[in-house]
Amino acid sequence: MATQQAMTYFSELLIFHKILNAQEVLTDDSFEDHIEQFQAKEGLLVDGIVGPETLWHLQELYARQSTKLPFVKCVADIEPGGEGFDSLELRQGAAEKFNLLRKEISDLGGLVTTAGGKRALTAGVGANRSAKSMHYTGLAFDLATTSGFFNPSKDPFILTRTNSGPNYWTLWSRASGGKDMELDAVHWKNWNSGKDLTKKIKGHFVNFTQACKRHGFHPISPRRSFTRSTDRNYLGSEWWHFQANDLLIPQMSQFGIELLKIEGYTQEFIESQNSNIWGNRKSVYKKTWF
Ligand SMILES: [Zn+2]
Repeated sequence: MATQQAMTYFSELLIFHKILNAQEVLTDDSFEDHIEQFQAKEGLLVDGIVGPETLWHLQELYARQSTKLPFVKCVADIEPGGEGFDSLELRQGAAEKFNLLRKEISDLGGLVTTAGGKRALTAGVGANRSAKSMHYTGLAFDLATTSGFFNPSKDPFILTRTNSGPNYWTLWSRASGGKDMELDAVHWKNWNSGKDLTKKIKGHFVNFTQACKRHGFHPISPRRSFTRSTDRNYLGSEWWHFQANDLLIPQMSQFGIELLKIEGYTQEFIESQNSNIWGNRKSVYKKTWF
């Protein structure tokens, strides 16, 4: 059963394709019928199931004709003596959320560092860089990978272990306006040590993960390269990565559609920059795209 958010969007799409008229209300009972009418009209397999092909046909023209979203430059903090950038680019919509998040943390005396937001379509992929990364769509940002994990007594971010999956880490901002508390900071001695250590750290901290979620940004699971027992790779820990899941609809949003919403990102442009990315265009959020 589709969520209310999904049903509203399906209605918009079916009205756009003249399967529904603007006065009609899409209900769970009529849903399959309307999808089948659409599939017949488009020459697709008529089965009433909204798979990647049907979703693509529903959304492609709609996305091409929608008002394009530019990338917006956002200011970030550089840790004194640390690495990272003083700005990042995010897609309009995500950028405003990031600015609100940074203001909240800044006002409490914390830093929001960055290793980047938007990733160029030409950027290579590898063990720690997905060919369907949210970074291509400008919906994800990374904190500076050196601003936590190795020196919990002074790092801008402290990491504690919470759960498994995307809630593996909880991040804490070191901030004078935060709560006085003691944390069990997980850390490694160095990039290659591969052994989790914990250290009690006293100070003033803000729950950064919670603040991110309030602003629509969510963490992802660490990669297997980090969680496996041997040959662990720090770059797989992904503690620095947050993405604007709240701007996507589960089982409905598609990688290529999110790209087509961006200013200047036509099919021709995307294909010419990186044909693999275009090849992944029909990946569905929370099914084959995370
Ligand atoms: Zn990332």
